[in-house]
Amino acid sequence: MLEIKNLHVKLEEENKQILKGVDLTVEPGKVHAIMGPNGSGKSTLSYVLAGRGGYEVTEGSVTLDGVDLLDMEPEARAAAGLFLAFQYPVEIPGVGNMTFLRTAVNAQRKARGEEEISAADFLKLVRERAKALKIDADMLKRPVNVGFSGGEKKRNEILQMAMLEPKMCILDETDSGLDVDAMKLVADGVNALRSEGRGFLVITHYQRLLDHIKPDVVHIMAAGRIIKTGGPELALEVETNGYADILNEVA
Ligand code: ADP
Ligand code: MG
Ligand code: MG
Repeated sequence: MLEIKNLHVKLEEENKQILKGVDLTVEPGKVHAIMGPNGSGKSTLSYVLAGRGGYEVTEGSVTLDGVDLLDMEPEARAAAGLFLAFQYPVEIPGVGNMTFLRTAVNAQRKARGEEEISAADFLKLVRERAKALKIDADMLKRPVNVGFSGGEKKRNEILQMAMLEPKMCILDETDSGLDVDAMKLVADGVNALRSEGRGFLVITHYQRLLDHIKPDVVHIMAAGRIIKTGGPELALEVETNGYADILNEVA
């Protein structure tokens, strides 16, 4: 479904190569985790997939269900079913959370050639999904992420994801800054969305999250490349030994 081949990315502003040949395929229904030291290019990969500016793809390709993603505007990528939960969720002053969600849901429906969701159906759905994430009615009325705590922002990202029902979900360190209870809520939110047709790319520093979201495949990224791929045991190895052993082994 998501197929990344030999992806090379540099910064537009500086002549700095960040991704140096990433190969990764996420099959439908699978959860792939990416771990790796700080600065290895994990966030850059997620930004490039989502279509954020400032990066130049110098080599390689990315397709979603066989369609070239790199050619598309960010909106078109979202309409095609890609969703990115940010490491640092943005605040959108002046735009109510509920309005934002409904606009996003309807934009996606439109792109898929479906009818708009009725106000009543939307309200029912958003309340139900917000409740599961312990997001209260007050937070739904406030401007998107403005004044939300770190944990509330991350849960709000998962609410967006739950409402949009994307095909391919990318979570960039959604667990960072969360206490144990909030992490469990986020993990439950993700697990509730796991389904046969949906793929996940979960970027995380810690094995902890992967206790709750059981990955099918774990990749280790370092210096702009995926240097090792394995099963869930690879995350446990990192938790116990850090990255040094793996980096040495590969070097
Ligand atoms: P990770 O998410 O794995 O911690 P990042 O993708 O955030 O890594 O960063 C990878 C490398 O690219 C780091 O060395 C970082 O400093 C650099 N980098 C990323 N974005 C920029 C930028 N806009 N300007 C300068 N350096 C950047
Ligand atoms: Mg980082
Ligand atoms: Mg990062």
